[in-house]
Amino acid sequence: MLEPGMHPDLLKYEQLYIDGQWVSPIDGELVESIDPSTGKAWALVPFGGPKDLDRAVAAANGALRGPWRKLSVYQRAGLLRHFADVYQTHADRLAQLESRDNGRPIRETRPDIASHSQWYHYFAGLADKMDGRAIPADPHMHIFTTRVPVGVVGAIVPWNAPLLLTAWKLAPALAAGCAIIIKPSENTTVTALELARIAHEAGIPAGVINVVPGYGKTVGSRLVTHPDVHKISFTGEIRTSQEIMRAAAGTLKRLTFENGGKSPHILFADADLGPALNAATHAAFMATGQSCALGSRLLVHSSIYNQVVEELGRRAQRVRIGAPLSEATQMGPQTTAQQREKTLHYIQVGHDEGAQLVAGGRIASTGSLSDPSLAGGYFVEPTVFANVKQSMRIAQEEIFGPVCSVIPFDDEEEAIAIANDTQYGLTAALWTQNIGCAHRVASQIEAGTVWVNTYRYLRWNIPYGGFKLSGLGRENGPEGIDAYLQHRSTIINLTGAYPDAYPP
Ligand code: NAD
Repeated sequence: MLEPGMHPDLLKYEQLYIDGQWVSPIDGELVESIDPSTGKAWALVPFGGPKDLDRAVAAANGALRGPWRKLSVYQRAGLLRHFADVYQTHADRLAQLESRDNGRPIRETRPDIASHSQWYHYFAGLADKMDGRAIPADPHMHIFTTRVPVGVVGAIVPWNAPLLLTAWKLAPALAAGCAIIIKPSENTTVTALELARIAHEAGIPAGVINVVPGYGKTVGSRLVTHPDVHKISFTGEIRTSQEIMRAAAGTLKRLTFENGGKSPHILFADADLGPALNAATHAAFMATGQSCALGSRLLVHSSIYNQVVEELGRRAQRVRIGAPLSEATQMGPQTTAQQREKTLHYIQVGHDEGAQLVAGGRIASTGSLSDPSLAGGYFVEPTVFANVKQSMRIAQEEIFGPVCSVIPFDDEEEAIAIANDTQYGLTAALWTQNIGCAHRVASQIEAGTVWVNTYRYLRWNIPYGGFKLSGLGRENGPEGIDAYLQHRSTIINLTGAYPDAYPP
């Protein structure tokens, strides 16, 4: 275990944020956070334990039953808007910290994080629009519904886009009037603690936002089983969702899940190949392949297949890999050593299954990586496999690395069949200039989001979530706040009379 005061060269965060205060872990520990571009520690972060989590749950319930519930919706929305504005003033610094923490290049994190305040503003705008209904019945009965907060929310977040995915949970939770406990990934704790600082600076009342980093098996599982936590909003792997669903059964929690994907990206013969190839390359390698929306299965019509494979291979080879904080870097390292091992394992699986390697396939070590400080980083080359069959594991399983499987098809029907032949159903995209084909295919794809002639267009007001094993429920848009509310029916007898059911 590390002691406070050790490691003078590391950025230090030694306390958890609970009940509006910075507190030392009771049964947690201090751990080193690793910079994925060097493989070396760059920060010291506090992990809580189950007792710390219990403290946070008590604080959140206290806030929920106390001052937070007593605010008018306008005051709550006003606080959320103020939080958005304060967040925005820190956006550039947050982008640098997230790039350092998970290795995404600054050219991706900066525009991403600059947009997050839109989520907070959008949901602040929904806070006073959660109307109920008046229900007609007998003239002497006044019946109406109201929508009330679901209670204390546990937000469990992964490491690939931690601040964005936190915004997707925090913004609707606060707009709905819930209190929240944020459990960031053990790999990306720093930005969650920075978020707590912003909450404090913005004057969010004590207990409304609590941040308890730690391991999934300890803090995460306590959050999921705690009887006074009412809802879990989770983003991560299917396997973890399944574990959570089982563990949460005892307390019958409300659950929403955003899981992985193996998105089909379909290029029809009439696709405008310039923009389609731009999108295909970006979809395959964004966030070093660590995106749930990755276009990891590129389905290409056989008439343009060879041309697309050749061009994609050329583009993969020219992606500039390097230090995340360098403005020139287009692709950073994988976030963890374990994730890089997983990617390299799947590259080997691709070879073994007989797919044809067109580009990449190795640990990246050339170009800007000649900088000796990056020698220990978790870099992998952007990798393209051609002649992939849908039955291969590299076409079926989520790799979460920069590996694109290019699969040929002959007609619309076959493209749809291949696209849907997966347990996932998060996103899909297709490129065609034929409006009829666009509608026919989009309507048959089993995915929560379908892009036509574009890719990864995400907004605060567009619902996002998975079909099949890719998820349960939706985040963003008006649908995104539903999961944080429950309906109450109130029935008032205007006469006060009630007949005796058992007259003498
Ligand atoms: P993960 O499932 O390993 O971990 C996610 C979070 O769950 C972490 O905070 C972890 O500590 C916690 N956790 C682990 N075990 C737990 C348990 N038993 N109880 C409670 N919490 C537990 O996922 P990851 O590797 O961090 O993230 C990558 C995955 O996330 C990929 O599959 C990716 O596709 C998915 N993802 C989905 C979306 C989406 O919006 N659909 C977005 C981003 C990432």
